[in-house]
Amino acid sequence: MTHHVIIGAGEAGLRAAIALRAAGEPHVTLLGGEGMPSYDRPALSKPDRETGGHHRPIQVDLAGVEVRFGLAAKSIDREGKAVVLADGSSLPYDRLLLATGALPRRLGCDPDGHARGLRTLTDADAIYGNVATGRRAVVIGAGLIGLEMAAELKRRGMKVHVLEVGPRALGRGVPAEIAEAIVERHRQEGTTFGFDARIHSVERNGVTLADGLAIEADLMIAAVGIEPDIRLADSAGLACANGIVVDSRLVTSDPWIFAAGDCAAVDHPRYGRMRFETWRNACDQGAFAARSMRGEGASFAALPWFWSDHFDFGLQAVGLHDPLRLSVRRDLPDGGWLRFELDANNRLQAAAGIGPGNAVARDIRLSEKIIEKNVVCSPDRLVDAGHGLKSFLKGGA
Ligand SMILES: Cc1cc2nc3c(=O)[nH]c(=O)nc-3n(C[C@H](O)[C@H](O)[C@H](O)COP(=O)(O)OP(=O)(O)OC[C@H]3O[C@@H](n4cnc5c(N)ncnc54)[C@H](O)[C@@H]3O)c2cc1C
Repeated sequence: MTHHVIIGAGEAGLRAAIALRAAGEPHVTLLGGEGMPSYDRPALSKPDRETGGHHRPIQVDLAGVEVRFGLAAKSIDREGKAVVLADGSSLPYDRLLLATGALPRRLGCDPDGHARGLRTLTDADAIYGNVATGRRAVVIGAGLIGLEMAAELKRRGMKVHVLEVGPRALGRGVPAEIAEAIVERHRQEGTTFGFDARIHSVERNGVTLADGLAIEADLMIAAVGIEPDIRLADSAGLACANGIVVDSRLVTSDPWIFAAGDCAAVDHPRYGRMRFETWRNACDQGAFAARSMRGEGASFAALPWFWSDHFDFGLQAVGLHDPLRLSVRRDLPDGGWLRFELDANNRLQAAAGIGPGNAVARDIRLSEKIIEKNVVCSPDRLVDAGHGLKSFLKGGA
């Protein structure tokens, strides 16, 4: 009987466990190092508007899976095909999945850790425990999580200042025009921004910039990105390079070990070697890894997709943003709008949109299908909201 062992009970690990059981695998063990049942990570920065709760347990049926929360894997004995656990015991495996996620990047100029990172429920509890109306927060990093935190702290009555080392917010994955609209929405709520801001040091009561400006604060958040958690893989001698290196079937440099989710750097047929840091990627790769572990599945080719919430604005994007591509804008009747990016042959490569609530969700879903099918699209028609995106799937152009 094949023993499937999964390290990491986040979204990727859970999806793999469920898929393995659904496929009839009788012996599946899931190790969760956090000491509590799995919870929804995106909810940490966008708590439920009605209850205010940021702890949303993931409700899934793990019947038949041997679940061991609070028991971390310490090392991997590849020769003996066993995982050594924190309690000193050893767990044999036939197929092993690493779904170890990521760790928040630390600020080099904050050796004492005055600025809090946000990755786990424990981090979120500590942050929200320090929130009070009228107190001052500095958020370091104007990426998606930094800005979501800024919105949430503002909603809870804090004075919020965001510092960003780059010249604009959301520099990596979002078109500049959309980033500007999001920043403008934050400004309307009273949040202030400092761009091109180099941090010299973080103290107990604030931040000092490289130009000498001291900014006092009661709460500092460091939202400066994540590092894939490769610790187990690396010490086991598996190939790692900005993540655990896997082929298009999510197999590591050891044929019996697989990796999925935030920790995996996959050989993607469309993009080459990539590591994705999104919720849906973790779900997709977890389920795909289960098939791969059973010897099924071809290449992992899912497109990257993410959402992010800022006050009443919902952002969604699919594909990989490239500022050098031809880009056209479509305005929707309900106040939302999208930016489409086309290659030199007018094939859609990426789309991002913003609007009230879920205004852009349907068009982003259709854009995903158009990208997958490599449809040639006339830029004039993409601009015209009267020309439904579904028609591109039927007849092209
Ligand atoms: C605050 C926040 C907001 C986010 N918002 C969004 C969003 O709006 N949209 C979006 O698309 N994405 C969002 N994300 C990203 C998304 O949550 C992640 O991409 C996704 O959760 C990654 O899932 P994962 O299973 O790969 O990793 P994780 O969820 O990190 O799970 C990995 C698990 O493995 C455990 N582990 C590690 N090492 C060991 C070990 N040795 N033994 C046992 N267990 C171990 C870890 O403790 C962890 O529980 C957000 C992330 C954060 C932190």
